[in-house]
Amino acid sequence: MSSLKNIPPIDEVIKQPRVQQLVEKYNREYILTIARQAAGQLRDEIRKNQIDIDRDQATELILARVEDEAFKSNRGKMKRVVNGTGVVLHTNLGRAPLSERAAVHVAEMGRYYSNLELDLEKGERGSRYQHVEDLLVSLTGAEAALVVNNNAAAVLLGLTSFAQGKEVIVSRGQLIEIGGAFRIPEVMKQSGAYLVEVGTTNRTYPADFEKAINENTAMLFTAHTSNYKVMGFVREVGLNELVQLGKKYNVPVMQDLGSGCLLNLGEWGLLEEPNVPECVASGADIVCFSGDKLLGGSQAGILVGKKHYIDAMKKNQLLRALRIDKLTLAALEMTLLEYHSGQPSQNLPVINMLSRSPEELQGKARRMLRGLHRAFKGDDRIAEIELCTVFDTIGGGAYPTYEMPGYGVQIEFSNISIETAAKNLRLGDPAMLVRKQDDRLIISARTVFEDEIKLLPGLFAQAMNRQ
Ligand SMILES: *Cc1c(COP(=O)(O)O)cnc(C)c1O
Repeated sequence: MSSLKNIPPIDEVIKQPRVQQLVEKYNREYILTIARQAAGQLRDEIRKNQIDIDRDQATELILARVEDEAFKSNRGKMKRVVNGTGVVLHTNLGRAPLSERAAVHVAEMGRYYSNLELDLEKGERGSRYQHVEDLLVSLTGAEAALVVNNNAAAVLLGLTSFAQGKEVIVSRGQLIEIGGAFRIPEVMKQSGAYLVEVGTTNRTYPADFEKAINENTAMLFTAHTSNYKVMGFVREVGLNELVQLGKKYNVPVMQDLGSGCLLNLGEWGLLEEPNVPECVASGADIVCFSGDKLLGGSQAGILVGKKHYIDAMKKNQLLRALRIDKLTLAALEMTLLEYHSGQPSQNLPVINMLSRSPEELQGKARRMLRGLHRAFKGDDRIAEIELCTVFDTIGGGAYPTYEMPGYGVQIEFSNISIETAAKNLRLGDPAMLVRKQDDRLIISARTVFEDEIKLLPGLFAQAMNRQ
């Protein structure tokens, strides 16, 4: 108990030259607050653990904590995370990492002024949308394009523009909910459209749609059931069939493709799913998809389709509230340029990770293993480190049941639990997320960047040394 009196008063802490240095750099009140917190924390620890320390030791502990806290907070709460989960589009980890070029473009457009809404040729006001429209048109084959804040906003804009106060027909098999509470029925309600459900959960026929069409029908809507799969006795109305019905009754067809892809992923042995150009070619009037799922860019909602529908959405006042931000737009523009004139499978991390062969992944896992072996040879805290096979997933609501064979490294600890190890890795800098399987911790090679391999031994050492 006697050590409690050795905790220095706050005025004394504040007078210390090390704290004075911090006060010059940061807000004084903020430094006072963290100094009080550090002193309080030390008081609790002394009470709880009966620690015996003198005044100098107590002062040193408080100073170290204040410096640590100020340093940490100065770096922001958003942190880089090394993704060892093998989930390529991890919703909690910001979905798609950008390409190098896209990240550099964002930094430049953010750091300086830009021609966001200026036509440099004419010296007049321009439109922010024009920076990507031609690219999207040429990449998808659509007549026109528009981008908004995210795909949920794209769906809302489409429904509000054409179906407010009117009916929208959707198959019961597609009344989906996506993580983060995006539900088709709720978005319909928000837009003021009336949802007309047809068919059943597992089977819907064109005739179900046809029977429901009347003079109040404003749209036929189809959503990609991106995060689940109905198996077995299943019938859905294909996009081609909907387009035929739409033509026959003169009703627009909108498709929410979710994770829109511009490439044919079958080329890398991945499961074939309809890509954006195919949907556009089917004759859908409006197709919308995310910018940060399989496209591999920034958070955005992309709408492509027939010109008069896109033009009508450009005039909707709601667009102002849903508009894309300049940094997002800069990232999207460069991402699209990777498809247009670059090498998407090389330069876009998402496509790169999806297109690696098992042999390439095995080589990468071996390099990870080598570094860890070298760092922890003879360390009795680790029972075993070895190469292992894994199944990776695409994530981000794409290919729900699809698993990609890959490779990784599995680690068994001898003195700490797998939960503690995983938690300590999460608290590292950069943070690291891994998979847990039985009593082993697994790092999948697919989602670890090549230049992060050398960080792994340090991150593990940090995690094992943390109490
Ligand atoms: C992911 C997804 C959305 C939501 O897209 P955000 O870009 O996250 O707003 C909407 N519809 C489908 C089918 C999706 O897969």
